[in-house]
Amino acid sequence: MKRAVFLDRDGVLNIEVGYIHKVEDLHLIPGIAEAVRRLNDRQIFCCLVSNQSGPARGYNPVSHVEALHKRLCQLLENEAGAKLDALYYCPYLSAAEGGTNPEFTRYTTWRKPNTGMLVAAAWEHDLDLRNSFMVGDKATDVDMAHNAGCTGILVQTGYGKSVLSGEYQHHTKPDFIAANLAVAVEWILQHLD
Ligand SMILES: [Mg+2]
Repeated sequence: MKRAVFLDRDGVLNIEVGYIHKVEDLHLIPGIAEAVRRLNDRQIFCCLVSNQSGPARGYNPVSHVEALHKRLCQLLENEAGAKLDALYYCPYLSAAEGGTNPEFTRYTTWRKPNTGMLVAAAWEHDLDLRNSFMVGDKATDVDMAHNAGCTGILVQTGYGKSVLSGEYQHHTKPDFIAANLAVAVEWILQHLD
């Protein structure tokens, strides 16, 4: 089984700007492409796991999410020759949480902080969740990590600072708090056994 680093998207890889309506408005956080490349160079499986409720809210079709991910991968490649080994996202949302498009409105174990995306990735790519890491900017990212037995790292980019100050979501206990993904990757590489 392989160890993995799971990566949230908005606020970890790209600059958090709310729902991204125009594909060209997706921009990488400075330094993150090199950070992903460091993981690639160590043959650590890099896997995107992202809640993308736009389709359920009727904001955009799934093809828009796919176009954003294509741009994300292109920017990673162009900036540092970095790559994501797999990308998972959850387009579903329950009606209680605000889902309106019937095609994508449902409760699902894929939505963070549930563990469905991590479990699916583990099955499909033979990943060792207990020896894997999750890097996110929300309390729900850390909660998902712990729900699946992963090490949970909170970055202070995106919503991270607001989570730590108590202004956003709820209190959470990350295993490590990093200024950004580059610092998180440095910590991960030091903690590989
Ligand atoms: Mg995020």
